[in-house]
Amino acid sequence: MTAPLPKQSTIAVWGGETGHERYERATQVPVVHSVSFGYSDLDTWHAVALGRESGHIYTRNSNPTVRAFEEKIRDLEHAPAATSFSSGMAAISATLFTLLRPGDRVVSIKDSYGGTNKLFGEFLPSFGIEAVLCETGEFAQIEAEIQRGCKLLYLESPTNPTVKVVDIERLAQAAHAVGALVAVDNTFATPINQNPLQLGADLVLHSATKYLGGHADALGGAACGSQTLVGRLQHFREINGAALAPMDAYSLLRGMKTLALRVERQNQSALMIARWLRAQRCVEQVNYPGLEAHPHHDIARRQMRGFGGMLSFSVRGGLAAIRLILPRLRYAHRAANLGCVETVVGPPQVTSHVECSAEERAAAGIPEGLLRYSTGIEDVSDLIADLQHALAVIS
Ligand SMILES: *Cc1c(COP(=O)(O)O)cnc(C)c1O
Repeated sequence: MTAPLPKQSTIAVWGGETGHERYERATQVPVVHSVSFGYSDLDTWHAVALGRESGHIYTRNSNPTVRAFEEKIRDLEHAPAATSFSSGMAAISATLFTLLRPGDRVVSIKDSYGGTNKLFGEFLPSFGIEAVLCETGEFAQIEAEIQRGCKLLYLESPTNPTVKVVDIERLAQAAHAVGALVAVDNTFATPINQNPLQLGADLVLHSATKYLGGHADALGGAACGSQTLVGRLQHFREINGAALAPMDAYSLLRGMKTLALRVERQNQSALMIARWLRAQRCVEQVNYPGLEAHPHHDIARRQMRGFGGMLSFSVRGGLAAIRLILPRLRYAHRAANLGCVETVVGPPQVTSHVECSAEERAAAGIPEGLLRYSTGIEDVSDLIADLQHALAVIS
């Protein structure tokens, strides 16, 4: 009998952790800070440098600690290959600059991560690459834009900060029909809740800084997909130089061991908080894909195993109300981050959409009274009591 395929929580612990010779039989992945790796035998050195034999030459290209991180995320995304970057933005920019050429057209959504949006609006056009940003929930419009010409379909689901859900399977089919590649930023969902490759994506990208690491103490990024695609990104990364540092790889690896535990708790707590918020009179709107009222709840049910820890809600009284509520929260960092063990809150006008005008935020469907809430792993009754105490100031 063959052993059953391991589940995500088992992979989170063991992925990338076996099959290596360990220094002094250490059970944990050692942090190899060395920048270079020495060879007394010229033939072996040559074979490793050409990739014909396994081994490392120079840490900008590969490193044992970084390799373990790459293998863990590769296994969690059920991908043939994975490579790593110094941050999520390094992974995203490597993807766009590797796969696109002057004259190409990339189709994406308006609600992509702020930094990604800057690449589309500010950097790609100066290389003669056109980025078409569609309304996130308008799948027919996205399909029509794909048919007008598309080299790469770039998606994110759920999105920031209004937690919209994109039908990855449907749009990947449309993109493949015109010979385009599909990349999906899976940072918000994590591989515990969603595996975009199984929905038809060619590449999955991560800001490992968020849920994968989970402790807000290391920057990192990853890309997972076929050997060929990942090999092209890795080649760009080796030359562009945005390599993941060994110590950060170690911190991320340690965080990832508890990824399934954390995300399962965050899924549960976020759903309870979203339901509680909906019943509050001072709350105007709650965005969470796990709520039946969410416009794409059915798609979320189909493509996700859990609805994630991210939610957002708007309160009566706009920014003035937010100013009163925020200082009263006891169990929340007020910061521009998400996905860590602590609850983190922030209004989009100082976090994800700080560079937009009020009109641009309104056009993106972001009311001034919106608060993004990244649910931590605290006891949910404490989080709800905390919100209740904070919201009492406006009710
Ligand atoms: C934070 C984030 C990024 C950028 O990641 P960094 O590690 O900060 O560079 C990209 N996409 C999403 C969805 C993010 O939340």
